[in-house]
Amino acid sequence: QLPLRQAVTELQPSAIRAFSAAVANIPGIIDLTVGEPDFNTPDTIKAAAVTSLEQNHTHYPPTPGTAELRQAIAAYLNEKYDLNYTADQTLATSGATESLWVSLYTITNPGDEIIIPTPAWPMYMSMVKAAGAFPVLVDTSSNHFVLSPELIEQTLAEHPNAKAIMLNFPSNPTGVTYTRDEVIALANVLKQHAIYVISDEIYAELTYHGRHTSLAELLPDQTILINGLSKSHAMTGWRFGMIAAPKFLAPSLIKVHQFTITAVPYIVQDAALAALTVGKNEAEPMLAEYKQRGALVHERMQAMGFEALAPQGVFYYFAKVPAWLKQTPSEFALALAHEQAVAVIAAESFGPGAEQYFRISYATSQDKLQLAMDRIEQYLADHR
Ligand code: PLP
Repeated sequence: QLPLRQAVTELQPSAIRAFSAAVANIPGIIDLTVGEPDFNTPDTIKAAAVTSLEQNHTHYPPTPGTAELRQAIAAYLNEKYDLNYTADQTLATSGATESLWVSLYTITNPGDEIIIPTPAWPMYMSMVKAAGAFPVLVDTSSNHFVLSPELIEQTLAEHPNAKAIMLNFPSNPTGVTYTRDEVIALANVLKQHAIYVISDEIYAELTYHGRHTSLAELLPDQTILINGLSKSHAMTGWRFGMIAAPKFLAPSLIKVHQFTITAVPYIVQDAALAALTVGKNEAEPMLAEYKQRGALVHERMQAMGFEALAPQGVFYYFAKVPAWLKQTPSEFALALAHEQAVAVIAAESFGPGAEQYFRISYATSQDKLQLAMDRIEQYLADHR
């Protein structure tokens, strides 16, 4: 067997996907594992893709996105989050996942340190390692999962040459978001350092209380803003994401994107154009429903005695495995799946601060959620 890139040899496959696959065949399983909206893509967006095909938009598309699409990306982000981007600062990517990869690949040299506040989506750690860089994990659990100015100051003092920080709020996995004051306080610290901010705001439209504050509003010259349509518009299968970046950086991001995937498929670009224009508020009814589901889950989980914060956005609920159960999250998740046919994700792989937690994705119907809660209640009763 010939050797391959060491960083790749060391990478672990996604524990989330492995667990979902392992429990998928349990009869009657209620799957609360993956962040997959249960809504269908809105009709206007699907119609735009059909029209695109009828117009034979089946040839090579422009690499960064069509002119209309890039204009629409800028207009959408500017209107929603009070920003000032022009079309040439934008890039259409294959999901936010490619946005993250292109961003990391463009700015990191082998050995660079990338700060990641945790608990975090495990893909961040994997991607940083795959890019040949080192993740510096910062546990935020003592500050309700929000990176405080003190904590980032301390981290930057210990890692003065860190190349970038990867932030994500509203957050997968915690369901927590940052208040405007918290974003301002964080930005005030980051502003004083020569560090990129990779701000993954893919869940911005799913903010429960008030308006999302983007780091790009406060740090336009340092921020690589990442967003997408997978979650806000129930478009995970289309693979569409977007980047908005400082003017000096955008051409380099586009270069990397070109040799990564050439371009986003034309029909997806046309569908995204519809989503960002006529469909720009399609997230609203979904948001209202997610909010209700989050309240339902929180009420039931609290009644059962679980320790968890009230959901502030997205569709993730982050709760502690009760100490009296004497189970690690992995043991708990496995036993719950086999005994009660409810699949949740053990959070050990989400980094420091997540060791005792598990994550519920409540992107499923309220009926199913009630049933899942009944089963969790039964599990606790059986183990008391
Ligand atoms: N960023 C975060 C924080 C996520 O949770 C996810 C998906 O779960 C993504 C990015 C990936 O988004 P996409 O499907 O657009 O690649």
